[in-house]
Amino acid sequence: MAWVRSMAKRPWQISVKLLVVSLIVTVLGFSAVCASVLISMRHSAQELAHQTLENVAATVDADVSRTIELYDHSLQVVAKNISLQELAGVSKPMLQMLLFDRTATASHFGPLQVFDAEGRLRLDASTLDPAPDVFAREEFFSIHRNHAHAGLYLSGPIIFHGIPSIVLSRRLQTGDGHFGGVVAGAIRLSYFQDLFARLRLADDDIIALVRRDGMLITRRPLDPELVGKDISHIPTVERMLTTPSGWFSGKGLDDGVSRMFVWTDNSRSLVVVVGRSWQTIFGLWRQEAIRLGAILLTLVVFVAAVTVVLIREIDRRARAERRLEELSITDPLTGLTNRRRFDSAIDEEWRRAQRSRSPIALLMIDADHFKQFNDTHGHQAGDQILIGIALCIADSVHRVGDCAARYGGEEFAVLLPGLTALDALTVAEAIRIKVERWSVDQAGVTISIGIAHLTPNASVHWSDLVAAADKALYAAKEGGRNVCVVASCKELSRVTELPATREAV
Ligand code: GH3
Ligand code: MG
Ligand code: MG
Repeated sequence: MAWVRSMAKRPWQISVKLLVVSLIVTVLGFSAVCASVLISMRHSAQELAHQTLENVAATVDADVSRTIELYDHSLQVVAKNISLQELAGVSKPMLQMLLFDRTATASHFGPLQVFDAEGRLRLDASTLDPAPDVFAREEFFSIHRNHAHAGLYLSGPIIFHGIPSIVLSRRLQTGDGHFGGVVAGAIRLSYFQDLFARLRLADDDIIALVRRDGMLITRRPLDPELVGKDISHIPTVERMLTTPSGWFSGKGLDDGVSRMFVWTDNSRSLVVVVGRSWQTIFGLWRQEAIRLGAILLTLVVFVAAVTVVLIREIDRRARAERRLEELSITDPLTGLTNRRRFDSAIDEEWRRAQRSRSPIALLMIDADHFKQFNDTHGHQAGDQILIGIALCIADSVHRVGDCAARYGGEEFAVLLPGLTALDALTVAEAIRIKVERWSVDQAGVTISIGIAHLTPNASVHWSDLVAAADKALYAAKEGGRNVCVVASCKELSRVTELPATREAV
């Protein structure tokens, strides 16, 4: 029906859509903000860890490099001075005093020792009378015997004089340039552990010292199984040894925990690499993410709950409003459209028919001798008859755009857009016969119907159509009632009369 179309768009429908869209936009907005904050926090946590590890690596590197440099300086003094002619005849205590400075006597350092070309211990900074010992097979010795330009050599971790150490050694040359032996000294592994212990690190942080050829010299935590192993075959270690500085993500060799590893300077004889587990790096961030996530979820649930309550309320109001609207356009007794709505419906359909140049028909229906019926059977019985007539009318009018209304009192109107006079007459006859048959048991109430039919144009108004239908109805009453009469005027189409049908003039 036309009035149904007019009810299609309602503000509350827009409100519900708006609410749902607002909820989605709000949730997406909140989520986007939280996600962006969390991503930037995660980035900061990683950046901070990188800087911290870089600082730790640089600190360890500086200490170790300085220590090795100082120790090497002592080795170089010995290597340079031992072949001096001036020292040829000096006594052993004097020789020791001149050759060995005090650097090598610091804790964690083994005494400097001089070995002859056969590897026999000749001089020891800590004693004038060293116990005879031969080190010809040790790598720190043989490397210099076999390579004239080995320079400063750092051994792997070995037990040297009963103590886990690395040995630093340099070649000695005779006056004529031949191999004259080796000067060596040890740095105990305890030095590195002491150094690592002084740093404030997380429990599962790793510090490793890797020789330039890929041998793991020592690490924190100390693992005797790993120390001394060649780890150069590990791709990330290989990258570390060939790239000046950087970081990589890899797993700890002993625990398999995923970590960020940072190294700062691979040009040193010992490359320092520091690792911290991603678990530790993102520990605080994870807590914050869970807290933010929980807050967001609570907010979303709250907003969703409020939205659901609002949608329900809007829906309840919408239904109530629809019901009120229906009531305002419905005749309470018969359930047909009331006069108010009928007037706007005929106005709408008239304009539509005008635009489309299509015909429009109108039936005016009136109960015959109804006053008499009321007087005889009572007003309530009369109401039942009006309901019955309304049902017969509603039963005969089905098309979209048709409008059956109670026009007033015991009068009804039926608007039939697009129908020819003959079609309208057919509908009218169907209604009349239906009422006649139905009322056989209801004291034989009948109806008279006036029919008007017109194709609207600018010179006529729909009230002319109503007037014409009224006139036809009057003619039907005049003509004896229980009859359909088609109005005849200039604007009307040609009408074919049916039995029991008259034409008003
Ligand atoms: P006619 O055949 O010429 O139409 O005669 P009539 O008696 O039907 O016409 P009249 O206009 O004289 O009387 C109409 C009657 O309809 C008067 C009134 O009692 C009755 N009527 C109007 N509205 C209602 C209603 O809602 N309920 C009932 N029961 N009767 C109504
Ligand atoms: Mg009447
Ligand atoms: Mg009447």
